[in-house]
Amino acid sequence: MEETIKSFKALLAKMHAYQHAMGALHYDAETVMPKKGAADFAQSMGVLSEESYKLSTGSEMRELLAKLAPEKDALDEITRREVEELGEQLEKLERIPMEEYVRYSMDTSAAMQVWKAAKNSNDFASFAPHLEKLVAFNRKLPGYLNPDLPKYDALLNEYEKGLTMEMLNGYFAGVRAALVPLIREISECGAQPDASALRASFPIPRQRLLSDRLVSILTIDRERCALGEVEHPFTGGVSKNDVRLTTHYHECDVLSSFFSVVHEGGHALYELNTADELVGSPLGTGASMGIHESQSRLFENMIGRSREFIRLVYPAMAELFPEQMKRVSPELLYRAANRAEPSLIRTEADELTYSLHIMVRYELEKQLIGGALEVSDLPEAWNALYKEYLGVDVPDDMHGVLQDSHWSGGAFGYFPSYSIGSAYAAQIYDAMSRFIDIPATVSSGDLSPIVAWLTERIYRFGMLKKPNELILSACGKPFDSGYYTRYLTQKYRALYNL
Ligand SMILES: [Zn+2]
Repeated sequence: MEETIKSFKALLAKMHAYQHAMGALHYDAETVMPKKGAADFAQSMGVLSEESYKLSTGSEMRELLAKLAPEKDALDEITRREVEELGEQLEKLERIPMEEYVRYSMDTSAAMQVWKAAKNSNDFASFAPHLEKLVAFNRKLPGYLNPDLPKYDALLNEYEKGLTMEMLNGYFAGVRAALVPLIREISECGAQPDASALRASFPIPRQRLLSDRLVSILTIDRERCALGEVEHPFTGGVSKNDVRLTTHYHECDVLSSFFSVVHEGGHALYELNTADELVGSPLGTGASMGIHESQSRLFENMIGRSREFIRLVYPAMAELFPEQMKRVSPELLYRAANRAEPSLIRTEADELTYSLHIMVRYELEKQLIGGALEVSDLPEAWNALYKEYLGVDVPDDMHGVLQDSHWSGGAFGYFPSYSIGSAYAAQIYDAMSRFIDIPATVSSGDLSPIVAWLTERIYRFGMLKKPNELILSACGKPFDSGYYTRYLTQKYRALYNL
């Protein structure tokens, strides 16, 4: 048994080395790689990912799992969860016919290329036949993944274990009932802050200094976390000792990078504070996509967009941008950072309206996968829901159904985890506030008690606990979306004096 475990761990270390190489190459490609390096990069990534796939599905892995799985209860907690996770992945891959899997990978690569061009030329018709193929496969896939579940539930489970349509229907109904009238009231009250003073030039070298201040306020250890510049910000990395945080600077919009850094900073804090024992293990990362997003949104929206945080950072901004900030008071900065207005583009949406963008995608995916909607009717259905939920008219598909890349990559069931992340965040914030006076802690400028609480309850477990277990143990209650709608209602009623 000891020998088997040793071989298993050696295999995991090898897999980790491939992940390490791919993670570092990916960060390199996004930050400093010269343009003409793209072909070599793609070639190397292809080789590395194929080798990595072989390690996780090859005969050595199969034999080791076959020996370890029956002895699961005798294993230590980490090894047991590793055996469970890798076993599940392997089983799943075995149920999908190889030929279909390979064809689907080729179809998604082609669809991604066509989507890019279709979006830029506002041409849904050219993308539709590709999307039809991906939808057809995703109608079939649930039968391989878990034929006992409703089809769309099986897809949801790929991104957020345990998430079901039953939960999401109740969740989105609550969100819709609370937020749609509130958003309408805000639109009608006409009391938007005048943020024109913020429309100035904020030199990028100075914005870089602001990022350094933000990262240090967030208690991020720069000896374990790099900060790079990319087109679309993300957080990547290798292990808790090597996290890669990124941002994008817009000279005329200082708040864009500000909140990117705080959002990605939340992701980075999670990775930086997983347990030492999980370094090199496939479990040494977030519990799920939704839980990871809960941490970025907790820092970005609930802490970063609080009056206390804005007041805390304001002096640094006034020092770095003395001319630009002359006409911007801390209160105006706070109001501008929390301006809510229905819009067309999900990635630019504010905190209040964001979940309605996700709700549109959720309703459409459910119908597409269930067979109630066909790809050819998608643009019209999209536009109708944007009108119904957000009250906006979609002028063209470029600003409508073609805006996101997810469907071109075959990711159906992924969007809901973005919204669920915000709802998890509200519940976690409420649980934490029973132990810590969060506004006072933020005002003090020392956020370490907040990070310590989150480490104790969430970060250190990595993937040892599943999302629902983690919420239950961290908050003392199962997931309840009421925290989220109450939080938003309270915050925005106060902001707009309603
Ligand atoms: Zn995120």
